Amino acid sequence: MNNLYQKNIFYAGALILSAFFIPQLTNAQISDPINITPNGAQAVILQYHHVSSSTPSITSITPEDFNLHMDYLFENNFNILPLEQILQSLQNGEELADFTAAITFDDAYLSVYTEAFPVLKELNWPFTIFVTTSLLESNERLYTTWEQIREMAEAGATIANHTVNHPYFLDRNEGDSINDWLNNIGNEISLAEDKILQETGQSHRLLAYPYGEYEPRIQALIQELGFIGLAQHSGPINANSDFTALPRFPFSGAFVSMNTFPNKVKSLVFNLDSITPTSPITAVQKPSAEIDFSRSIPRINELSCFNNSEIINVELLDQETMHFRITTHIENQGRRFRYNCTALGPEGRYYWYSVPWINPANPE
Ligand SMILES: [Zn+2]
Repeated sequence: MNNLYQKNIFYAGALILSAFFIPQLTNAQISDPINITPNGAQAVILQYHHVSSSTPSITSITPEDFNLHMDYLFENNFNILPLEQILQSLQNGEELADFTAAITFDDAYLSVYTEAFPVLKELNWPFTIFVTTSLLESNERLYTTWEQIREMAEAGATIANHTVNHPYFLDRNEGDSINDWLNNIGNEISLAEDKILQETGQSHRLLAYPYGEYEPRIQALIQELGFIGLAQHSGPINANSDFTALPRFPFSGAFVSMNTFPNKVKSLVFNLDSITPTSPITAVQKPSAEIDFSRSIPRINELSCFNNSEIINVELLDQETMHFRITTHIENQGRRFRYNCTALGPEGRYYWYSVPWINPANPE
């Protein structure tokens, strides 16, 4: 009896001690128990390009704003993990701590090495660089060198695939058959992966689509090649996400604001039953989409959708299946645009889903 009592005291003491000690461990050391999101295992992927005040603002965040972002993640106890580890956990149905995130950079610009890397090294946070292999060594004032890439890789960075030449995947050369077109895309991916392996010893088979552009035949191709695809429409991810076109939150130009950053990085995944159309390709300026949402989302009736920050029309077609139609009044002239849909969830967090559109007839 006494023994049992002492044993319980011991366990209670150990629990109290662990409560004090766990926050001092690094994220990788915390295994059990973890505080998972009210929405099940999920994560967000942050996407950056230049971290500089002297590069085009549309693809840049200033070093000051980048620091604000990292400070926010640090102060809010974000669990920053290597991208491939997050994706593997989700695919294996494992749990992830709430506020799990990956930090990614596209194009391997020099400012990632000079500005972002020192900050991330100090925080001891992993990050991923999607490398366009032919551009490295092409201009040392704009892009990192392989030597700099290797230095970051040795410090824990994941080096991933952003093709050899950064082509528009949707463009088909005149005279090329569908097979020629897909073969060219396959070569862009495979040759870049070979080069990354040769230069860094890494091969994670993670592809960031150039310009975030993809379509179903390209998705089928990368799946066949054993790759996971990352796009540029926004939203968090979970095990039900489409691993051939995972969303990431882009943080450049108008999207860097600290007014919206917390809502994005703390956003919750919508579980969709289906979406129509399944391809992002459109030939019209005002495409409409239909979405069946899982009925378990509270306040789904208050779903709001935005086209370029302007609120657009959401119609509930069937209450039983939570079937919505989203239509826009905006004449989208751009090549790529999105409908971002949100609904208020628990703890003031927002469910977030983005419908990407690409109209290849429109110029960049
Ligand atoms: Zn790119």
